[in-house]
Amino acid sequence: MSKVDVSISKAGTVDFDKIREDFPVLSQQVNGHPLVYLDNGASSQMPAQVADRLDYYHRFEHSNVHRGIHTLSQQATDEYELTRKKIQAFINARHSEEIIYTTGTTDSINLVANSFGSLHFKEGDEIILSQMEHHANIVPWQMIAERTGAIIKVIPVDDRGDLDMEAYKNLLADKTKMVAIIHVSNALGTVNPAKEITDLAHESGAAVLIDGAQSAPHQVIDVQDIDCDFFTFSAHKMCGPTGFGILYGKKEILDEMPPYRGGGDMIDKVSFEETTYNVTPFKFEAGTPPIAAGIGLGSAVDYLNSIGMDEISRREHELVAYGVERLKRVDGLRFIGESENRASVISFVFDEIHASDMGTLLDKRGIAVRTGHHCAQPILRRFNVPATTRASLSFYNSKEDIDRLVDGIEYVKSFFE
Ligand code: PMP
Repeated sequence: MSKVDVSISKAGTVDFDKIREDFPVLSQQVNGHPLVYLDNGASSQMPAQVADRLDYYHRFEHSNVHRGIHTLSQQATDEYELTRKKIQAFINARHSEEIIYTTGTTDSINLVANSFGSLHFKEGDEIILSQMEHHANIVPWQMIAERTGAIIKVIPVDDRGDLDMEAYKNLLADKTKMVAIIHVSNALGTVNPAKEITDLAHESGAAVLIDGAQSAPHQVIDVQDIDCDFFTFSAHKMCGPTGFGILYGKKEILDEMPPYRGGGDMIDKVSFEETTYNVTPFKFEAGTPPIAAGIGLGSAVDYLNSIGMDEISRREHELVAYGVERLKRVDGLRFIGESENRASVISFVFDEIHASDMGTLLDKRGIAVRTGHHCAQPILRRFNVPATTRASLSFYNSKEDIDRLVDGIEYVKSFFE
C-alpha cells in the first residue's frame, strides 16, 4: 500500500458521476433506500483517497511532531507541515506562517476573540456581528465583551436573507474594533459580500474576521483579495477529517497577539521566573495536535484541487438552482433565505409540518437532511420560525438526489393531508 495520488481526468468538463464513486459512503442503503446525503453543511463526506491517506499515516507514519530527532518523527512533521503550505496556496495567503492550525472554526474564532480581544478591546469598544451568524461567531464575542466591557452591535437581515448594508455602514464607528461576519450562511445560504464588508470596516479602522466554514468548501478563496484580517474554516466540511481547522491571520497582526493556550510546543524557553514564546504560528499551537487530521486536511485539499474549486462552485450552483426550481413547485413549501447570491444551502418550512417530523420521515426514505435551528437561533427568530429543514449540497450530489428529496417531501406531506 502506498500513499494515494489523487488524479481525476478532466477532459474539458469534470465527470461528477465518476467522482461520486470516490465516496463509498454514498453507495450504501439507509433504511432500505439508497442514501441521499444532503447534510453537507453539517459535515461533508470523505473520499476514499483521503480515508486511505489517513489509514496510511496510522499504519506507517505515526509519530509525534516537532519534537523527535528520529526519522519517523521528522517524516510526520514534514507531512504535517506540508498542509500549511497547501492551505497557504488554497486560500492564497502571503505567508505559510499566516496559517494557524486549530481544531475547527469554533476554536479559530475563540482564539481570535480571546487573543485579539484581550489585547485590543476596552470598555465601550464595539464589535459588529450580523443577525445571521452561527453561534460559533456570536458566543465567543459575547464572552470577551463581558470580560472587557466591549459592546456587540448587530447588522440586520432583510426578508430575502441579505445583510442590510446601509445599516452596516451606519453601525461602523471609531469605536468599532472588530467586524466578524459569516461568509456563506449555513442557515440561509446567503453569500455575503466579504470584500465590500472588509473595505468598509478598514475605512473605519476595524479589523475583520470572516467565518468561512461554509465558503471554503464551496468556492475559490483569496484572502489577499478579500483583504480580511482573519479567515476561519473546518476540515470536516471540506472532505477532510473532524477535529481540525484553520485560522488564517495577517502576519503582522498575529505577531502582536498573545498566545491563547499555554503548554508544550508554543514556548521558546520556560523557567519559573519567566517563559518566552515561540514564533507565529507555533505560539498558538500548544500541545500535541491532531496530526493525522492535519495530514488528512492536506490530502482533502489535494482532492478538491484535483477537481478544481471553480468546477466545484459551478456544479453546486447548478444543483442549487435546480433544487430551488423543483422545490418552489411544492405546494405549501416556503423558503427561508432567498438571496440572489446563495450557495449550497436550501432551507424551507411548511406551516403544517414541523421540521423534525419532516426530517424523521425523510430519513425513513434514506434522505439525510438537517432540521432545527442550525446553531443560528437569532436568524430563525428573525424569520419567526423555530426550525427549518435544510438541504445542503456538495459537488458529489446529483439532480437525482434532489428529485428523491422532492419525492420524499411529497411522501411526508401525504401523512398530513
Ligand atoms: N460557522 C459556520 C457558518 C458553520 O456552519 C459552522 C458549523 N456548522 C461553524 C461555524 C462551526 O464549525 P465547527 O463546528 O467545525 O467548529
